[in-house]
Amino acid sequence: MGDDGAFHRGELSARVGYASFALDRRAAWRDDVPRIEALFASPDAMTIVVAGEMPILRRDGDSLTVWHRPAEIAAVTPLLARVFLGTADEGDGGAPRFAVAVSADLGAGHGAHAGHVVNDLRSIAIQGLVPPDELASLGAGKAMVDWHVRHGFCARCGGKTHAAQGGWRRDCAACGAQHFPRTDPVAIMLAVRGEHCLLARQSRFPPGMFSCLAGFIEPGETLEDAVRRETQEEAGIRIGAVRYLAAQPWPFPSSLMIGCIAQALDEQLTLDGTELEDGRWFTRNEPRLMLRKQHPQGLFCPPRSAIANTLLWSWAMDGLTP
Ligand SMILES: [Zn+2]
Repeated sequence: MGDDGAFHRGELSARVGYASFALDRRAAWRDDVPRIEALFASPDAMTIVVAGEMPILRRDGDSLTVWHRPAEIAAVTPLLARVFLGTADEGDGGAPRFAVAVSADLGAGHGAHAGHVVNDLRSIAIQGLVPPDELASLGAGKAMVDWHVRHGFCARCGGKTHAAQGGWRRDCAACGAQHFPRTDPVAIMLAVRGEHCLLARQSRFPPGMFSCLAGFIEPGETLEDAVRRETQEEAGIRIGAVRYLAAQPWPFPSSLMIGCIAQALDEQLTLDGTELEDGRWFTRNEPRLMLRKQHPQGLFCPPRSAIANTLLWSWAMDGLTP
């Protein structure tokens, strides 16, 4: 569904990690409490399981899957949160799909179980442990159950909140406030000037890795404003034209990365030393080598699962311009 449709439209977003969400969300069903309970109890229901910070994967023959039988999980542990993600329609007759949170202890126990693999979400994505549509469901499901675990109390009055709408809302019984899961927009941009692009690194990056600049979009800003402000703040470079290329759900914990290519108007870099450890202009051939891990100095860019990889590919390989 989302995957095929996006590919048919030629959208760049279709090639980034966490972006191939293929379930039918069935939003109209979320208010129907008996129906949601029946779906969770149905024999063809499946659920994502997140233990603390760690998703639990299940061995299915030679491959791994994010999907578990809900009854098997609910039988051994209390569920700390539950979200109805939708139904899997293709060839599966509308089988219900959920995400649940369980205690971190259960993850530790399952790590020793031959039928399960416990790993962090980034590693699951980078190592390609599950198919793209399952990774997208896992990212969405983990973002949602994380939100429940962190939002037990009302931001307005401090009262206890409870899940509603199949897990897509939390309501406060004390003051009646309704709370919705948030998505935080982040601008990520490849600034280019002729045959050069600007890449930088933060100290927390693995040695040798360079990436695009990025920053949260602030209230009152357009996407283009945020691209110009962040590039000016972090690298002292003024930006002219800004072109949107692709977006990526980024469940760490709940961002949407909005990727742009931007026309740099200056050459002289003034790096913000607190945000960036290093940065420079790269000739177009360098990211080509970095994308293939053939750079003579061993430099490389973020993996295919990250949108920075798509932005670099679009400019260095496909010749897109601002
Ligand atoms: Zn309240």
